[in-house]
Amino acid sequence: GEKYAEFDGKGMLYHAFSCFFFERLHKQGIATHFIERCSPIAMRVHKLRIVPLEMVYRRIAAGSLCKRTGLPKGEQLREPIVEPYYKRDVLGDPILAPAHIFLMELVSPTAYKQLVQQTRVLGDLLTTWLREVDFELVDMKLEFGWDVHSSLLLGDEISPDTMRIWDRHTGESHDKDVFRHDLAPLIPRYQEVARRLQIDV
Ligand code: 5GP
Repeated sequence: GEKYAEFDGKGMLYHAFSCFFFERLHKQGIATHFIERCSPIAMRVHKLRIVPLEMVYRRIAAGSLCKRTGLPKGEQLREPIVEPYYKRDVLGDPILAPAHIFLMELVSPTAYKQLVQQTRVLGDLLTTWLREVDFELVDMKLEFGWDVHSSLLLGDEISPDTMRIWDRHTGESHDKDVFRHDLAPLIPRYQEVARRLQIDV
């Protein structure tokens, strides 16, 4: 929200990424809100009551983790970590301690455990898939929600807009940091990720 721009074809590209990842997750038996792609710009999804938390998975220090801890950018974490952020624009989406989450009754302790576990599983899977095509998953933000049967499902989108991806050889960013820090034209960097994953765009 701090920087605004429009790019031709961005919606179609993000749609293609999200469909690709959701379909691949379904093949692994992981349920998400995704039902089917309807056109190059539309998908049918299950209606969710969104959990007011953004779940962030991290494997390598970058972004706000470096600012908060002083860890150098690029430092490999001993093991992946999961952090919850409060989805409240007016507060600037702050990181929360579990004590705050339960104090405000945002989710139950059981649901929180499930969110952390699902985030870990999804992060580990995406790490493997991206590594197969010579990218390093640095971190990723996921959103979940409850469907009409009160099942917790992955929602929102999965695209280079919601993760950090570095080329394993050059270290080049292929994610939203390219736009945030004006590193290069954004769309070609995203297209390279799509090309390596063999996503039709
Ligand atoms: P950080 O906390 O370091 O800024 O972000 C961690 C990861 O979560 C990054 O991959 C970043 O792109 C993603 N992320 C966190 N919040 C948001 C958000 O509100 N929108 C998007 N698109 N990505 C986010």
